[in-house]
Parts: sequence; structure tokens; C-alpha cells
Amino acid sequence: MRLDDELAWHAMEAEEALASLDSRRAGLDQEEARQRRARFGPNSLPPPPPPNPLFRLLAQFNSALIYFLLAAAAAALMLGHLVDAAVVLFVVLINALVGFAQEGKAERALGAIRDLIAPHATVLRDGARQTVAASDVVPGDVVLLEAGDRVPADMRIVRARGLTIDEALLTGESVAADKHEAAVAAESSLGEHRSMAFSGTLVAAGQATGVVTATGSRTQIGHISGLVQSVEKVTTPLLRQINSFARRFTALVLVGAALLFIFAVLIRDYDWSDALIAVVALAVGAIPEGLPAVITITLAIGVQRMAARKAVIRKLPAVETLGATSVICTDKTGTLTRNEMTARRIVIAGHEIRVSGSGYVPEGALTAENDDDDTAAIATASPIIRAALLCNDARLRQGEAGWIVEGDPMEGALVALAMKAGLNPDHVRDEWLRLDEIPFDAMHRFMATLHRAPDGGGVIMIKGAPEALLDMIPAGDRSGWAARAAMAAAAGERVLGFGMKQLAAPQNDLSFDDLGKGVEFLGLIGFIDPPREEALTAIAQCRSAGIAVKMITGDHVATALAIARQLDLADDPQAMTGAELDAISDDDLATAIADISVFARTSPEHKLRIIRALQTSGAIVAMTGDGVNDAPALKQADVGTAMGLKGTEAAREAAHMVLLDDNFASIVAAVQEGRTVHDNIRKVIALTLPTDGGEMLVIVLAILLDFALPMTATQILWINLVTAVTLGLVLAFEPAEPGVMCRPPRAADAPLLSPFLLWRVVLLSLLFTAMSLGVFFHALDSGRGIETARTMVVNMVAVAEIFYMFSVRYLHMRSLTWRGALGTPAVLWAVGGVVASQLVFTYAPFMNDIFETRPLDVQDGLLIIGIGVVLLLFLEMEKLLMRRLGWFAELKP
Ligand code: ADP
Ligand code: MG
Repeated sequence: MRLDDELAWHAMEAEEALASLDSRRAGLDQEEARQRRARFGPNSLPPPPPPNPLFRLLAQFNSALIYFLLAAAAAALMLGHLVDAAVVLFVVLINALVGFAQEGKAERALGAIRDLIAPHATVLRDGARQTVAASDVVPGDVVLLEAGDRVPADMRIVRARGLTIDEALLTGESVAADKHEAAVAAESSLGEHRSMAFSGTLVAAGQATGVVTATGSRTQIGHISGLVQSVEKVTTPLLRQINSFARRFTALVLVGAALLFIFAVLIRDYDWSDALIAVVALAVGAIPEGLPAVITITLAIGVQRMAARKAVIRKLPAVETLGATSVICTDKTGTLTRNEMTARRIVIAGHEIRVSGSGYVPEGALTAENDDDDTAAIATASPIIRAALLCNDARLRQGEAGWIVEGDPMEGALVALAMKAGLNPDHVRDEWLRLDEIPFDAMHRFMATLHRAPDGGGVIMIKGAPEALLDMIPAGDRSGWAARAAMAAAAGERVLGFGMKQLAAPQNDLSFDDLGKGVEFLGLIGFIDPPREEALTAIAQCRSAGIAVKMITGDHVATALAIARQLDLADDPQAMTGAELDAISDDDLATAIADISVFARTSPEHKLRIIRALQTSGAIVAMTGDGVNDAPALKQADVGTAMGLKGTEAAREAAHMVLLDDNFASIVAAVQEGRTVHDNIRKVIALTLPTDGGEMLVIVLAILLDFALPMTATQILWINLVTAVTLGLVLAFEPAEPGVMCRPPRAADAPLLSPFLLWRVVLLSLLFTAMSLGVFFHALDSGRGIETARTMVVNMVAVAEIFYMFSVRYLHMRSLTWRGALGTPAVLWAVGGVVASQLVFTYAPFMNDIFETRPLDVQDGLLIIGIGVVLLLFLEMEKLLMRRLGWFAELKP
């Protein structure tokens, strides 16, 4: 085998290229492929070097708060407060390390999920099509390409049909290049290598077979150094919003702190070092240090949970949008139905034939309806059955788990049908050699193949949507066929029409013009494709969750409506066809669309209009797609959803989310997780802000009213970074509230801080302040030292936060239930962790030194816990009262 970079593959003839690579049109054999895989290594580019961890760690220090804390530490050092300075520095370091670790963890988790949708390639091995991981493609492999594929390796094209490839990645040329099998001049630029397909480029149209000339880093794309994918940062609109809020809030707090500092020194006559320590405490208290990290984790957990339920997020913002989805537009075949087709009836002139059997097992009987003679009927059906087998790219194979299809399931069903009729697929295909074809396309909805008949004459076989075929024959011959097709469709069957044309003279190429005159309509075949059971429950769930489901299909309107009724898509599903869509204006569509739940006989470009109309009416739209032509719609949708099994690479790359199992129910599962993520983020915020608000108020009051600070700056840092972050993380892990899918979708523009949440933040800030000051003055009044009083305050805040967390866990329902009280393992671990660290904080001698704490008496502890219990009861009553008053829409049942 010759394989060096200098070889001009593009200038060789196809056969010469195959020979140089020791390969043949039928592909390598398995053993050879295995050896080459070992010799040449995986067909993948080396991963980009991980970003320098030092830089990533330093990036953690790049925030106004950290600068402020560092400045404060320096000031404390200069004033001789050695311990304070050390604690602040230590906390800053811990904070950066925790942020660093969490960011890395979130990114790694997302990266691992991406691997679930690693690209695949279709190759010929041992003469049979086979799907392999793109990384297992080796030099010499014969690869099949079709529209929507990403070319897995550099290859010499040995056969091309209408092939165009988008090579913008390599050449910058935005118009897709025509490709063919003929050799080109040796001295030509990459853009002129029409006989080659290059790794990483995208097949825009057509079909091709190519033999791999280079893999991995030996490909053209591998030569372009520096073109390595960059690592995606974990960010979403929400996260950016929170970060920018945090930045502005930090600035505001720092200005406020400066003013307070001036007030303390000038009016209150503070020693300026004491004033500095007070305002550091204030800034530290007011700024929610841990919040962005906890929210990042919440999002990452959401993505992981979605992946576990077969929905892989490709673009992180979709995690947020999913929860607000109000309309799901979905394909029918394979998404709502199982895409396990079985041919049920053959309709030909004069006869109707029933077909028994199930699945792809080629066992079953053909029996004529209406007491006709079976043998005569089947003999009349032989042309249609032969056309069904020849105008067909599928193979049936007996695997360990029964008969399986390689290729399109409907075509597989036709192979099974031909075998039931006694044909041997391989023999018939050899006898009727295929010379050329027009592949199926959702735009023209048919497929045609050109064959050499055993007698040497040329024959065209056509199969496709009955309307598409009837258009090819004279109007006079169409009588009755459309009605018979509609009848089968109304029973929920998918109906295909078949045609044939004898050519006057043999020819080697097939074009659309050949289908004009002389086509003979052979008849119809009806298939059953049962609805998925999970889809039925998922649709019921959508309806209770206020999410409209719209079916968009290329299939016949009657078939689509029958399936829609079986699935209970709407009470009385209404349909609109592609032709009707073409006739209606955008404005009329936007008003009419709410009542339509089935769009039939549509082509991919209709999807874009449907999405736009829905978005105009204010909907957040999730839309499925699988073909190249679906890419624009997938991008336009709020949550473009591609199919992982049957979808093209082009669709997957345009999509926000990929379904690993092509199942409608997985979209609904993702929506549920999306709602949960959003709930959990709100809970994290609801927990964090009042703690900060309370701490801030306490300090401001102390300075304004001139009493000793109830907490020191380092103690506040302790609460914010240990207690609040631990408890916040618990909320990131919260499972869905039981009623998540029983309430309507949230408005897309609803603020994160809903009125109820805002009220809670204010109420709780005041309560935290009251509890802290109450405990503080009680302790001082009963003669305890300032250190003991402060230790009680810190413990009071920690305990109050724990109890408040139990209240926040259920924003939409009562918290005081067994389920609520028992909590999840995450809850129990976190509460245990916080309790343990508070005990260390209070009783460990070294902590007493660092944080100036003092051991507390049992009664003091009990008092604090008692106040916490009262707080929880109070909050439950408040939730009840607010629900009665009906002030807050979100509390309505
Ligand atoms: P769906 O929305 O059900 O996936 P498609 O766009 O795949 O619909 O197909 C639309 C119509 O095109 C089908 O109803 C059928 O009549 C026809 N069709 C589908 N697949 C093929 C094929 N492989 N060959 C010929 N015709 C096909
Ligand atoms: Mg389809």
C-alpha cells in the first residue's frame, strides 16, 4: 500500500487510487480494517492542549471583590492585625480553589456528555454497509456519503451522484463545491480538487462513495495547525446576567462601604482602623461570593440529568430555555411512532392483498381480499413487489436479536415483503443491475432507480408519496388511486405509491427529465408504524403542563391525523397541509396556528415559517429535525432538537440538543429537567440573598447606631463561603418538585426574582437581622463577653439558614411533609456537614483562635435551635397566608 503525503490522489483515476490503497469498491475486510486501525491509529485530531491550569487559577482572582479583599488584607497587615489578614488571605485562596475545582468539574462533566454524540461514518466492510465510529475509519476504507454527513476523513471519490460539498472550513468558499469521480489536473489548488472529499467538510447534497486516503492528523484539516477546537466556557445568558448583576452590585456595595467608612470616621469618631474593619465586614457580608459558582454547578447538574434521560445538550443556554418551552413541534415517524414498519397491504388494479407477519422477520403470507384467487392476485402484484425491492437501498440481516434493517426502516419492510412473496433479494438485485438513481428527498418525496432488465432493456423504478407518483402519469389514468390511498391513510397507514417505466433504448444515467412521459402506475403499499407508548404518556404530560404539541410531517394528512388521534395530541386535532401553508399569509398563520396540531405533506422549509409564526405569537418553541434541510429551522427554534440515531451530522451540529434515542418522551423529560433547573436556581438565590441582606443590615445598623459589630469580617466570610455555599449546593441537587409538570410554562420574560421571591428576600433579610440582633443583645445583657455573643450570632445565622433551606426546598408546596422533613441524601449530608463545621467553629481551640469564637453552653445552643424551629413554622404559615391572600400568582395551586 502506498500512502504518503506527496501522492496526488486527486489526479489519479479512481481505480488507480483504490489499487494504491490495496482496497476495492466492496471495501476492506474486517481483519484488514482492524490491522490498519492498529497501524495508523485513530482517525481523530489530537485534542487541544488543556488551558494552562495556572492561568485558570489566576482567572479566579480576577474580580473586584477579590481585589477589595486583598486590599483589606494588606490594610489589616499594616495595622498589625496579623490574624485577620491571614484569615482573609486564606479565605480568598480557598474561594479561588473551590471556584477553580468547580469550574473544572462542570467543564469536564459537559465534555464527557459531548462524547455521547461523537460522529459516526458509514463504511463498506466485507461488502456490507456498516456504521462505525468516525475514529475507527482507516486508510483504504470505502465510505458512503450522503447529504448532511460530515466527511470523516480525506478521500478520493470513486462514485458521485449530484454531490456538492461545503468546504468553507478549508477553502473559505461559501458556495458548496460540485464533486465528481473524474481525475483533475495534478497541479491544482485544494479548492479545485473536485475528485476529493476532505475531512471535516459537510456534504450539502447528493450521494457518493469514496476511498479513504488519509486519516487523523494526516488529513488536510490536520495539517492546518492552530485550527483546534477551543474549549467551551460554561456560560449562559442567565449566568451572564447574574455575573453582571454581581459586578454592578459589588461596585454599589463598595461605594456604599466607602460612604459608611467616611460616616464612621467623621461623625461617629471611629478609630479609622476599626472603621476599616467594619466596612470590610459590610462588603463581605453584602456580596454573594458563592452564588455564581453554585449556579454554574446547578446548570451542569441539569445537563447531566438530561443526558441521563437521553437528551444531550449541545448549547448550554438551551438548559434554561427548555424550562420555558411552551410549544413542541415534532416529527412523526420515529419520534412519535416507533419507525418499525411492516407492510400490511398491497393495492393494485383489480386486487387488494393483505400481508401477515410482524417486524422484519421475512415470514408471513400474502392473501387476496374479497375471496379472489391468491395465486392470480399475487402474480398480478409481482411487478410492484419487484419495484419495491429494486427501488430500495436497505438490507435485512439476521442478527443475534432477530432480523434487523441496515438502512431505511420502510425500505427494510419492503425487503421483508419481497421475501414473504418468495423473492431472493440478492438474486433479483443481481439480475436487475442498478445503473443509476435519484435519491429520496423530502422536497420531491420520491426515489427512482435505473436498471438493466434481464432481457437487456432499460427500466426505471419509482417509489414515493402517491401524489408525487400520480403527478407523473396522465390525469386520465389517475382515477380512483388517490381515493384508495386516502382510505389506507385514514386507517393510520403510511402509504407509498410505485411506478415503472420501460425505456425505448438503454441508457446509463437517470435524470428528472426521464420521469416525464410513459410512467406506469403500479399500485400502493400500506405500512403500519405503531405509536410509541412513551409518546402517549409524554403527550398527556405536556397537556397537563400547558405545552402544546404540534406534529410536522411529510406524510399524508390522513395518516398524520389518524396517528394524532391515537396519541391524543389534542381533543379534536386539526390539520393543515404544506399546500395550505403556502397559500396563507404570515399574519394569518400566526393567528390560525394555535388551533392546528398537525402539519402534513410539509417540506423542511415550512418548518421555518411555522416556528416564526409561533414565535410571533410569543411561544418558546422546541423543534425536532433530522435532515440537512432542517438545519435553518433547528437554528431558529428556541430549542432545536436533532435526532442522534437517524439524524444527519448537519442537523446535529445546528441543534441545541440531541436526542440519543430519537424519542419524543426524551424531549419532555428534558423540559421537566429544564423546569427543575430553573426552580433550583431560584431556590439557590432565595437562600443566598437574605443571608447577605441580613448580614449587611446588621453591620449598617451597628455603624449607624453605634454599637459593637455583632459579627467580624472573617466570621461573615465563614458563613458566606462555608455555610451558604454548602446549603446552596444542596439546592442545586434538588429533584423536581412533584408538581413541576402540572403548571403552565413560565413566561419567557419572567424575571428570575419573581414578586414572591423578592418579598421573601426582603422579609428574610429583616428576620435574619432581627434574630441576629436579638441573640446578640440577649447575650450581652446576660453578661456574656462580646466573643461569646458573636459566636452565638454566627451559629444563629447558620441554624436559621438550615431551617430556611427546608422552607425554600418547596417553593410551590408545603414543606412540612414527611418527604420534606426526611430530605434527600444530599440534604442530609449537607446539613450534617454544616452542623459538624459549626461545632468545630465553636468548640475547636484553633478555630477559637482564628475566628475569635468561644465555646457555647448547651442552653445557648438549644435557644438558637428553638428560634430556628419557630422560623420554619412562621415561614410555613406565611406561605399558607400568602396563598390564601392570593397576592402572588406563582403560589396559586
Ligand atoms: P416523515 O415526516 O414521516 O418523516 P418524510 O419527509 O420522511 O416524512 O417522507 C414524506 C413522504 O415521502 C412519505 O410519506 C413517503 O410517501 C415518502 N417517502 C419517505 N421515505 C421514502 C423513501 N425512502 N423512498 C420513497 N419515498 C419515500
Ligand atoms: Mg422521514
